[in-house]
Amino acid sequence: MNMKVMNVPASPPAADPLDTLFDTLFRPMNALGVYGRTGAYESVVEALAALISSKRETGTEVFRFPPVMSRAHLERHGYLKSFPNLLGCVSCLDGGEAEIRASADKHLGGGDWTADLQTADLVLTPAACYPVYPIAAARGAVPGEGYRFDVACDCFRREPSRNLDRLQSFRMREYVCIGTPEQVSAFRERWIVKATALADELGLTYTVETASDPFFGRVGQIMAFSQLEAALKFELLVPLRGAAAGTACMSFNYHREHFGTTWDLRHEDGEPAHTGCVAFGMDRLAVALFATHGAEIADWPESVRSALRL
Ligand code: 5GP
Ligand code: ZN
Repeated sequence: MNMKVMNVPASPPAADPLDTLFDTLFRPMNALGVYGRTGAYESVVEALAALISSKRETGTEVFRFPPVMSRAHLERHGYLKSFPNLLGCVSCLDGGEAEIRASADKHLGGGDWTADLQTADLVLTPAACYPVYPIAAARGAVPGEGYRFDVACDCFRREPSRNLDRLQSFRMREYVCIGTPEQVSAFRERWIVKATALADELGLTYTVETASDPFFGRVGQIMAFSQLEAALKFELLVPLRGAAAGTACMSFNYHREHFGTTWDLRHEDGEPAHTGCVAFGMDRLAVALFATHGAEIADWPESVRSALRL
């Protein structure tokens, strides 16, 4: 007898090779890409942070930023033009006790309390270097030797995904340079050399390739194309899924005078400063280390453990 079998998928859903690491690294928190981190995973993130600090150039000023920043500043950065789809905004219940109680009680009654939320003056910080440009601009003219900063932040990007290397909430560490085009280009070239040497110490396989940011929409495609053409962004890609495209674990960015004009960040002669940054994706680097060397840190190559002092 021929029976028609309905709703049976042709093949089981493809499992991501990184999935086997989930229990070693993370605990679910009821949202894709938002995870509790295990002690083993966190020991690697801390060790990576220390290793990156050990490469800090002299004359670099350190800041650590909170996971939220001024909405007005982010708007001025042009984020709504480039990545409106990735932004997370803070919203809160405003008003007196009676109003707030009434809104919260809607939830207790099974209703929708979120309709009463008011947009706050804060957004979730999407990149660690954004808050540093207004801080530098407030000091007046950029000094002749330029600025170098070391910044870090918990970043948010609205990209829910099942993949362990695509988180909504992740840690980013950056070195930032503000100065002349020559100073910023030299900084970026130096850091491509230093960062690839760091990836060698970590025993990672990688390529460094020109890249573009995921600018939003059709206009975004044109922005991405010109970014590629001018080689404004390079990424260090680590293959985490065999022959498939690698995962960007670091990026090397030249913003030209974008932030200089946006923040009126100028040299003594009035010319807008140029800026650039090297970004280390702390969570992606940690995932890459476990994917490359295995779930047991004790079994990692001696050279990698010694570089990380693990
Ligand atoms: P970019 O500003 O170049 O997009 O991001 C800088 C670095 O942050 C990336 O090279 C990557 O290592 C990290 N990063 C960007 N998006 C994600 C993400 O969705 N998840 C994780 N874990 N890291 C990310
Ligand atoms: Zn940056």
